[in-house]
Amino acid sequence: MGVLDTVRGWFSGEPALFDPSWEPLLTREFDHWSSLNAGELARMRMLVARFVHDVRWEPSNGFELTDEVRVLIAAQASMLLLGLELDEYPQLTSVIVHPSTVRLRGTHAVGGGVMSSGTQTLAGQAHFKGPVILSWSATKRGAKHPEAGNNVVYHEFAHQLDMLDGVTDGTPPLDDQAARERWVAVCTAAYDTVRAEGSPVLRPYAGTNPAEFFAVATEVFFNRPVDLCDHEPELYAELRGFYRQDPATRHRNRHERRHGSW
Ligand SMILES: [Zn+2]
Repeated sequence: MGVLDTVRGWFSGEPALFDPSWEPLLTREFDHWSSLNAGELARMRMLVARFVHDVRWEPSNGFELTDEVRVLIAAQASMLLLGLELDEYPQLTSVIVHPSTVRLRGTHAVGGGVMSSGTQTLAGQAHFKGPVILSWSATKRGAKHPEAGNNVVYHEFAHQLDMLDGVTDGTPPLDDQAARERWVAVCTAAYDTVRAEGSPVLRPYAGTNPAEFFAVATEVFFNRPVDLCDHEPELYAELRGFYRQDPATRHRNRHERRHGSW
């Protein structure tokens, strides 16, 4: 725990501590937790504790916000910060949790450049300098079953990272102009391919606009890293460079640990 955590503890009266009871909960309900090494787990425990402690949590529709809800959301949101020099989401105002699907009214994009009006149900939503809204059932399913590819928490918090530079355009803050140009070139090529002919790893929703492309690509980067690395090696490399994590190597190491290698 750093000096800042101690200082915040004095002000708020309670320091952001990782409760030991969260460990078995995360091992059981968050598949990726078991793939982390000792150093990664140490940073994750700090990030999870801060997130649970600092975020303004809002239940929707009389939903009960238990420790399990807060910790499972915090852990998935923190996975995106694991390799970054960022310990929190500075523009996040609150996390609103719905029991199942989130219902919205009005006009909205439904994928493939198509707009629709009327009631829309979705698993989550991220607002610029505002709340992240999540469906608890989708959150729980995504944590436990990464092989399906989808993860609503990774998706919405990727939008939060994208928004850090003031525009939601599929390009998060990068080191310099050369890095931005390379990022845009690689992502544009992959985005155009998804729109034109689809992709074996990126679902069609990635073709909605560049912001959705980055959010969907983030889900697949963490959930199906080996597939993404095989099918879109340049895109995988850009995401690995931005997140400063290599989930494909993590995935292979875990597989070897499970099944043994000679
Ligand atoms: Zn989205």
